[in-house]
Amino acid sequence: MLGGIEAGGTKFVCAVGDENGTIVDRIQIPTTTPDETIPKVIEFFENYPIKAIGIGSFGPVDVNRESPTYGHITSTPKPGWKDYPFVQGFEDEFGVPIGFNTDVNAAALGEATFGAAKGMDSCLYITVGTGIGAGALVQGQMLQGHSHPEMGHILVRRHPEDPYQGRCPYHGDCLEGLAAGPAIEGRWGQKGMELVDRKEVWELEGYYIAQALMKYILILSPKKIILGGGVMNQKQVFPSIYKHLKEFLRDYVSLPELSEYIVSPGLGNDAGITGALLLAHQALTKEQ
Ligand code: ADP
Ligand code: ZN
Repeated sequence: MLGGIEAGGTKFVCAVGDENGTIVDRIQIPTTTPDETIPKVIEFFENYPIKAIGIGSFGPVDVNRESPTYGHITSTPKPGWKDYPFVQGFEDEFGVPIGFNTDVNAAALGEATFGAAKGMDSCLYITVGTGIGAGALVQGQMLQGHSHPEMGHILVRRHPEDPYQGRCPYHGDCLEGLAAGPAIEGRWGQKGMELVDRKEVWELEGYYIAQALMKYILILSPKKIILGGGVMNQKQVFPSIYKHLKEFLRDYVSLPELSEYIVSPGLGNDAGITGALLLAHQALTKEQ
């Protein structure tokens, strides 16, 4: 039996299951401080004979195995989590192999194994929620270099009629600052869920996301693009993305039919937790 943790900024999803994507039991725990949240996670796993744990975490995280701070959450503003040694804590507690990556890389792995990119060795998973993050599978591996990618913070061209300054605490009008859930609320004065009938909201959202996708496509050439996260529940963003992406790319690259190429997660809300179980499996097979 394997353990998986999808560690998000608002909630932790913990599950036990196997590498076939079967989930036997799961719980959700609010993300408060490590002192409060982690003991509840440990208590859940203590009921099961788990052989490995996979963690897909909000970030930034240190995923470089050579680094002295491998397995830490690094520069988050979330109280208590900065420099938190995530992997170490679970290694000490359970003495089993721990797999560790970003929440979005885990989701990409889940989708490529059982979801919308099933059987593909390349895909991109993007979440548009409280923040924007993306994980990529490239030639079967979760993309990692010096650290992990931070594709949500790329700069995009502001729409000439969009006066909103953006709200990324680091970059102001980066993609996340202009297009994540809080930016929608900041620009239009209401949460996305209350703006369902405002066509201009979703038209503009598609304009920004399409710019980002253009860059990702030109740089990574993914075989499938999966868009998850709360904001992407607004399915009306998809046609706007397709329209703008066509305009931006101008037939320069040949792509599959966009409605089949850029899609919702095949695993729904379970992409991340399924990926976490797969991270556990990877850690286990590496150790054996
Ligand atoms: P998180 O990013 O914290 O894991 P979500 O992916 O649910 O959680 O993202 C939360 C953000 O998405 C909030 O800004 C919220 O307003 C927005 N959001 C959630 N559901 C919807 C929806 N159905 N339509 C539009 N925006 C939504
Ligand atoms: Zn930013």
